[in-house]
Amino acid sequence: MKVITLVVPCYNEKEMLYTFFDEVTKIASEMRKVRFEFLFIDDGSKDCTLSLLKELKRQDERVRFISFSRNFGKEAALYAGLRSSTGDYVAVMDADLQDPPSLLKEMYRILENEDYDCVATRRATRAGEPAIRSFFAKKFYQVINKISKTEIVDGARDFRLMTRQMVDAILSMNEYNRFSKGLFGWVGFKTKWISYENVERIAGESKWSFGSLMLYALDGIIAFSTAPLIISSILGLVFCVIAFIMIFVVILKTIVWGDPVAGYPSLISILFFLSGIQLFGVGVLGQYLSKLYMEVKNRPIYIEKCTEKDFEGEEYAKSV
Ligand code: UDP
Ligand code: MG
Repeated sequence: MKVITLVVPCYNEKEMLYTFFDEVTKIASEMRKVRFEFLFIDDGSKDCTLSLLKELKRQDERVRFISFSRNFGKEAALYAGLRSSTGDYVAVMDADLQDPPSLLKEMYRILENEDYDCVATRRATRAGEPAIRSFFAKKFYQVINKISKTEIVDGARDFRLMTRQMVDAILSMNEYNRFSKGLFGWVGFKTKWISYENVERIAGESKWSFGSLMLYALDGIIAFSTAPLIISSILGLVFCVIAFIMIFVVILKTIVWGDPVAGYPSLISILFFLSGIQLFGVGVLGQYLSKLYMEVKNRPIYIEKCTEKDFEGEEYAKSV
């Protein structure tokens, strides 16, 4: 019997956890040919998510969980989940039911019967999203796909079902700055995309603000492209050439017409412009350097505080 591990990152999801679990177990019971393993990653939640997970574990032995010592972010949670998953297939899914669990059946059918290594989802439209957010999201995907060799699909969700082989490939990349949308694309393998309409979160709230999305986009660009470095070098070169031409023109003017002192405003404008470009170039360099710095430190991607195994004794004590 094949096993599907369902990796679910949870950060302050007390409102959603039971509803989510009810929904997925319903689907799991309809899929008779597979066994499920529910692997929840408590990403340092500040609410009672962890105690709810312990309770779920008592109710259903298929439940496993890992709890982090603090909030390490969804990417770290995904990594932890993939690492301790044991299934032949691994699904990644949000706890907020924005990823319809019913799709799991179709995904499993495709992996079993067709020649694919992964079934991934993307949203069909961006309806229901603020217009400005859609605009920047679209631009982000256009830019990153131009400057990066890795294909990053517009509107891709993290919700996907993968074979063990693909999961192992993703785990072989143990970089600290993890941008999953890129990692999934980078490892290759044959992926089938299915689209679905965007579903609103039923309860709880999204952890993403506009600012954090912007930073996330920047992380993605830096992790999967070195184009900004090349662009700033080219800009530097272009401005050198312009400066040489200007020097030549100034000398020529002085020789032909003499040298009246003029042009203070234009001088200041040029000064501002060029120092702006310089600072921008240094900033770009700094971004790469800071990522490099974090990689070199080689810190763990997450720190485990406890897992379901730590509570097995407790359960026993209760039943006695
Ligand atoms: N999440 C997490 N760590 C975080 C932020 C989010 O594990 O630091 C989880 C969250 O519990 C949810 C999933 O990641 O299961 C997606 O989060 P959210 O719904 O806020 O993102 P959105 O759907 O708005 O992209
Ligand atoms: Mg969500």
